[in-house]
Amino acid sequence: NFMRVVVNSASQPEDSASLGVELLCVVKAVLKKIRRRVLVGDKVLVGSIDWVDRRGMIENVFQRKSEILDPPVANVDHLLVLFSLEQPKIEPFMLTRFLVEAESTGIPLTLALNKAELVDESTLVEWKSRLRGWGYEPVLCSVDTKRGLDTLQFILRDQTSVIVGPSGVGKSSLINALRGNKSVLAATEEDNWFEPILGSKWFEEQRVGEVSTRSGRGKHTTRNVSLLPLSGGGYLADTPGFNQPSLMKVTKQSLPQYFPEIQKMLKDNGPGKCSFSDCLHLGEPGCLVKGDWERYAYYLQLLDEIKIREEFQ
Ligand code: GDP
Ligand code: ZN
Repeated sequence: NFMRVVVNSASQPEDSASLGVELLCVVKAVLKKIRRRVLVGDKVLVGSIDWVDRRGMIENVFQRKSEILDPPVANVDHLLVLFSLEQPKIEPFMLTRFLVEAESTGIPLTLALNKAELVDESTLVEWKSRLRGWGYEPVLCSVDTKRGLDTLQFILRDQTSVIVGPSGVGKSSLINALRGNKSVLAATEEDNWFEPILGSKWFEEQRVGEVSTRSGRGKHTTRNVSLLPLSGGGYLADTPGFNQPSLMKVTKQSLPQYFPEIQKMLKDNGPGKCSFSDCLHLGEPGCLVKGDWERYAYYLQLLDEIKIREEFQ
């Protein structure tokens, strides 16, 4: 079981010639013993490097900034929530579920609406202002006409992103459109363009996912994720995420935090807090969150769902 690791930084200035080189690494046994699973996107420390064969051993995993499980990727900076306006038609409650799930990761998100060419401009304007009321500024795009793809490329630059959204909205098409023709492999053609420095310690960043064992012996059934370098900069997971938002990490008390319009009402209405600190905004005395906003019914529905789940836990 190997992982591909791209050299991202070197501990010695003279070693910087190897930046961008890709190494095929095994994971040190002791890491497996303490169940520190190495994820795609992890920053790792590599030792025992053989520069000629481009092999090494992952000796340690650095603290993660973030971690998502579906797909398993560490250090994700950004989520791109993708829906389509038509085919399938954007469904507000489903969109809310995805947004709540995305917000609950704590990772910044961008909302994009694909297949813009299938609806007329007035529909686009309506959706824009409606979603603004939810607290989001959506990017309108179309993989078919390339509308908005430059904006998305700009948003994705210099960060590691994962696209999430329901099936059929164009996630795979968008990933393909954005990856351009840049190769996944960062390796150079010349084999010995730098001096092999055996045994030196390098800080490296694992960018590319697990690969199957050498010479195609047996097939891997585990899900492979790779981070694709984008032509405009940044990395994008090649596998879309959360097909079914489970909301498993969302509690009754945390749910309001995942509705930007609730947060805005609290901020705009005086003291910034309802009278009860654990207010669920169901009409409690001294509640600053009124029930006259578009997604209130969705909020109540999700709250019920979470209540039922919590009772059974
Ligand atoms: P995924 O399930 O979210 O990964 O969606 P796919 O990328 O597989 O796309 C589903 C279908 O939508 C395919 O037939 C695509 O060709 C089509 N599609 C993707 N983007 C667009 C678009 O911008 N406009 C239109 N009309 N169709 C699109
Ligand atoms: Zn309240």
